[in-house]
Amino acid sequence: MRYVSTRGHAAELDFAGVLLAGLAEDGGLYVPTAWPVFSAPALRALRGLPYAELAARVIAPFVGESIPFRDLQAMCRRAYAQFDSKAVVPLVQLDSSLFALELFHGPTLAFKDLALQLAGHLFEYVLANQDKRVRIVGATSGDTGSAAIEAMAGRDKIDITILHPAGKTSEVQRRQMTTVRAANVLNVAVEGNFDDCQDLVKAMFADTDFRTDMGLSAVNSINWARIAAQIPYYVSAALALGAPDREVAVAVPTGNFGNVLAAWAASKMGVPVEKFIVASNRNDILFRFLSANDMSVREVTPSYSPSMDIGVSSNFERLLFEFLDRDTDYTASTLRDFRTTGKMPVPDTVWHAVKRQFTGYRLDDAGTLTEIAKFYRETGYLADPHSVIGLAAARECAPVGMPVIAVVTAHPAKFPDAMEKAVGFRPALPARLADLYEREEFLVHAPNDLAHIEGLVRNFANRNV
Ligand SMILES: *Cc1c(COP(=O)(O)O)cnc(C)c1O
Repeated sequence: MRYVSTRGHAAELDFAGVLLAGLAEDGGLYVPTAWPVFSAPALRALRGLPYAELAARVIAPFVGESIPFRDLQAMCRRAYAQFDSKAVVPLVQLDSSLFALELFHGPTLAFKDLALQLAGHLFEYVLANQDKRVRIVGATSGDTGSAAIEAMAGRDKIDITILHPAGKTSEVQRRQMTTVRAANVLNVAVEGNFDDCQDLVKAMFADTDFRTDMGLSAVNSINWARIAAQIPYYVSAALALGAPDREVAVAVPTGNFGNVLAAWAASKMGVPVEKFIVASNRNDILFRFLSANDMSVREVTPSYSPSMDIGVSSNFERLLFEFLDRDTDYTASTLRDFRTTGKMPVPDTVWHAVKRQFTGYRLDDAGTLTEIAKFYRETGYLADPHSVIGLAAARECAPVGMPVIAVVTAHPAKFPDAMEKAVGFRPALPARLADLYEREEFLVHAPNDLAHIEGLVRNFANRNV
């Protein structure tokens, strides 16, 4: 399998190449040259497999020649053995057509573990065959950082630096990052918001000398390997609900558009997903786009669902590229205009085509608390402030009678303050994190300044010299 950049001016790479590269050198995102398709019998043959086996088979066509299937299978088994549910991604029925797909049973209690636990193994595997060290830099609005750190801590040939917006993640989220004791981990609290952090990371990648010098690599959801590793749980849940012989809808609490893009990828591979419900909090650029073709940047304001506090959904570029019939020049110019004007000029025909498959939904903070309480009261299900937006969206927007898979992206104990406001108590952390508040924190503070941050990364790289 080969990968091309959405903007058309970067080298074509194989899976190992895109894993290490993250962002393409022309600023675009890597996408597979063609979508692998599973026939209906091939999909049916995946039914009932243990999750790690199913994941290996779904991911295999994307990995192509880069890794032998047996090795991929072994890595999937090891990655998903870390989860505290035998099913790995259990599906819980909430009413006659609403199903919660629980993606929080990994080490950091958020869905990012599904992709990043595997990515940790993939990085180490690919680097073992190469004589180089990589420096992963990433930005997080909360959950990516801890999942990435947990996946990479102590691994050979890898350093990881994670920028988070100072004071804008929940305390649990921050502590999950900063209490990891490993020599290859650097946490930076940046004075700014998530988009500032993401811009700093993009700027480091755009600084070619720095990028090459440091051997930069990314594990943000722009990294194709992460999207690939998120496809299997949609396949697994859809199969459990009757696919490929029955259509399903999905509802996804969305920030950077990575998770919902993985659902869309599953549909390209043959899984009959009829509707993609994109759920946003008050930072609602995707909702404004889907309801009025208004993809325009606004200031990000903190909400109860910090991992969705995003002004620009980077992975949307991959979808746009597909809906523009893979026209790289058009994609590049559209993204350039977006960058300079803050508004993305999406042609109406393209917008209508997207709308046939995607529906937007938005819920503000007050609504989030109300819905948490309501779901808890009516179904006994305690959903965190991100997932509840997806659940509410599923109820509101799913086609009548069609089963809808609402992805549950985090454990409610990650957001105790909001949960207490909604239901009057603080959900307990699972046993493996019970002493989180007693652990020592390791982090440095930094201004929103590229030269300063690059200095930190460089010093960290040279720490043993
Ligand atoms: C990251 C995250 C999201 C948003 O996922 P995207 O792939 O960025 O759209 C939603 N909920 C939680 C809990 C997250 O950690």
